[in-house]
Amino acid sequence: METEKTDFLIIGSGVAGLRAAVELAPHGEVLVVTKDVLRESSTEYAQGGVAVAMSDEDRVGIHFEDTLKAGDGLCREEAVRVLVEEGAQRILELIEWGAEFDRAGTKLDFTLEAAHSRRRVLHAHGDSTGKEIERVLIHKVVSLKSVRKFPFAMTVDLVMRDGLCCGAYILKDGRMHRVLARATVLATGGGGQIFSRTTNPPVTTSDGMAIALRAGAVMEDMEFVQFHPTVLFAPAAPQFLLSEAMRGEGGVLRNIYGEPFMKNYHPDAELAPRDVVSRAIISEMVRTSSLYVYLDLTHLDARFVKKRFPRIYRTCLQYDIDITRDRIPVSPAAHYMMGGVKTDTMGRTSITGLYAAGEVTCTGVHGANRLASNSLLEGLVFGAKA
Ligand SMILES: Cc1cc2nc3c(=O)[nH]c(=O)nc-3n(C[C@H](O)[C@H](O)[C@H](O)COP(=O)(O)OP(=O)(O)OC[C@H]3O[C@@H](n4cnc5c(N)ncnc54)[C@H](O)[C@@H]3O)c2cc1C
Repeated sequence: METEKTDFLIIGSGVAGLRAAVELAPHGEVLVVTKDVLRESSTEYAQGGVAVAMSDEDRVGIHFEDTLKAGDGLCREEAVRVLVEEGAQRILELIEWGAEFDRAGTKLDFTLEAAHSRRRVLHAHGDSTGKEIERVLIHKVVSLKSVRKFPFAMTVDLVMRDGLCCGAYILKDGRMHRVLARATVLATGGGGQIFSRTTNPPVTTSDGMAIALRAGAVMEDMEFVQFHPTVLFAPAAPQFLLSEAMRGEGGVLRNIYGEPFMKNYHPDAELAPRDVVSRAIISEMVRTSSLYVYLDLTHLDARFVKKRFPRIYRTCLQYDIDITRDRIPVSPAAHYMMGGVKTDTMGRTSITGLYAAGEVTCTGVHGANRLASNSLLEGLVFGAKA
């Protein structure tokens, strides 16, 4: 087995891993290993946006309260405070590095999503926010001489000595490598692929959680999995997510008889928290003996819909659904894991030498239920801290 040495080993190249690489680069040699091409990650597919309290009508304290409320009383307040307070700085530096968030005139354009009491969700190219963040971070990382990249390199386990983490075993080109590092950062994302119906890409197989668990790390809140309410349900179509922002902009949920039903379940109707909307949809599906309900945008201005949701419009059209004219068949699917490797606000796990950031972790910011668009922000904020 070949042995390599580096200062910092980062496993995963989504928002959390890449942001960690940028932060660590001035302090030594960084090796980013990832099991596919660099950009293949949940981050690349994130649509709706990134939540940050930066609009004129918003305050950090209100974002804090909304996050706690969505988390059903189970958030770690200390971690939520770090998230909402440091978020704006992380977004401003992304803009400085070239991120093009959508604007209304010269001002950043903030949209509304479920369970947010203010318009606070920044978006890019309509519905391609994650792709834009990933593009900018890859560009930044590629410009840093001290960062090496190892694509198509599958991390299998941690190198452990006397209970300390000293690196990881990595399978690349059919050969096992032992990479020794002063510090190892797990940023392997979530595990939606455990479920038959999920919005997550194929790389999302809980590897980091399993690797950490085998090494004896403390895990937390593994029972909390968020189901996204509106995922395309059509023959031969992929399990394609239909962003929450579609309801934020006025989309209505209807059962197969065309009846709107969300008011029967929650006063906030379509903008109730995700768990409430997902459960309401399942109840309507059972009540009407159907495998789906409809998301209806046909009453909105067609030009606005095409401009605001270009990627979703194009994708649905491939399956003969014109979202400006047709109701879209949807049902819930596994989307996000609130639980994971327990970390403190500096990304430290219970194992010395092992840090973690992003969806693989349980920082405590999401409690029992993640507030929409808080996870890209979590990756940026805690990636920088790990
Ligand atoms: C369709 C979709 C839409 C979403 N929309 C939003 C949104 O609008 N706003 C929001 O805030 N959040 C959204 N989310 C959630 C958000 O995208 C993710 O929670 C976040 O991007 C996770 O970032 P990450 O860096 O932790 O992990 P990821 O971005 O998933 O990156 C994980 C990385 O680890 C690598 N990896 C995994 N296992 C291994 C291994 N064994 N060895 C080596 N490498 C490995 C992967 O290849 C990948 O590079 C969405 C998610 C999906 C799937």
